[in-house]
Amino acid sequence: MTPRGLLVVIAGPSGVGKGTVHGRVRAALPDSVLSVSVTTRPARPNEADGVDYHFVDRPRFEQMVADGELLEWAEYAGNLYGTPRRPAEAAVADGKVVVLDIEVQGALQVREQSTDALLVFLAPPSFAELERRLRTRGTEDDEAVDARLEVARRELAQRDLFDAVVVNDDLDRCVAEVLDAIAAARTVT
Ligand code: ADP
Ligand code: 5GP
Repeated sequence: MTPRGLLVVIAGPSGVGKGTVHGRVRAALPDSVLSVSVTTRPARPNEADGVDYHFVDRPRFEQMVADGELLEWAEYAGNLYGTPRRPAEAAVADGKVVVLDIEVQGALQVREQSTDALLVFLAPPSFAELERRLRTRGTEDDEAVDARLEVARRELAQRDLFDAVVVNDDLDRCVAEVLDAIAAARTVT
């Protein structure tokens, strides 16, 4: 049995713990890489260009879409986000696990674009806990948090379109479940 390259999409509402979980998944899988997205959102103070995101202006982003450089893209809370196609496809061809931390519309586009994809939806234990995590993280002001919670309600309604739904209550158990789903999807029988 040979492990194969795979796109692993970790989607779910803002604040559910996608960043936390993909950090743990990548630490557990030495042959995994994180896809660095392109965005028109301004960088947060702790973010570095080329590391957390490639920060671009809207005309540049639209040019990338027109040139077919993005595997998927979506507008989220007023900004554009997308996954550069070439590095992701090259790493999958090289047998690697490529982790995509993206929102739900983009996740569903990945399914249409690629057969080598596992779509995981991270769900919060409750909506109240999602709101608590988002507000405690402190990266957005109240208005931006409200906008993200509004999007979250729509995203939660789409969870059944995913290959796996994993509840992020206990972090260790959640990460173990995601790793099990990846191992099953990578195994060529
Ligand atoms: P996302 O990337 O989905 O927006 P983050 O990974 O930034 O979410 O997590 C949002 C907040 O929730 C962070 O402060 C993080 O430390 C916290 N968090 C993540 N997973 C859990 C968990 N299982 N239990 C409690 N808090 C968590
Ligand atoms: P944030 O602004 O908090 O970094 O991200 C906002 C939302 O955009 C999150 O749900 C995140 O997963 C999503 N996102 C980040 N990069 C991409 C991407 O390349 N494509 C899509 N579709 N969503 C993304």
